[in-house]
This record gives sequence, C-alpha cells and structure tokens, in this order.
Amino acid sequence: MGKWLFLVLLALVVYLAVKAARRKVRAKVRSLRTPEDMVACGRCGVNLPKSEAFQSQGRYFCCKDHGDSETA
Ligand SMILES: [Zn+2]
Repeated sequence: MGKWLFLVLLALVVYLAVKAARRKVRAKVRSLRTPEDMVACGRCGVNLPKSEAFQSQGRYFCCKDHGDSETA
C-alpha cells in the first residue's frame, strides 16, 4: 500500500515538474515573439532586431561587413 502511495506521489511530482517546465518554455517562446527593440544599421540604415544586429563601438550594424568597414 505504501509503495503505491509512493508511486502515485512520484507520478504527481513528475507531472508537476513537466507542467512547470512546459510553462517555462511557453513563456520563453512568448518572449521571443514579443516585438523587440529595432535598431538601424549605422552604415546602410536598414532596420533589424537588436539581438540580430552586430555591435561595434556602441553602434549597430546589419552585418559584420558593415561594422568592419565602418571602423576600417
Ligand atoms: Zn548595413
């Protein structure tokens, strides 16, 4: 009897852990979908999400080439 109770509790703990993990993943996916800060490339002026921009000397660039040629 005690063994079954233990198994039921174990299943409940696993269930709650999976549920919590799923909620965390869903929250992360939602945060990825929320509109991000947009920045303009310091060279060609194209707008892109901040996380995809290359940063060089405090300015943002659309690609590594634009960042490099700006400093060169
Ligand atoms: Zn650019």
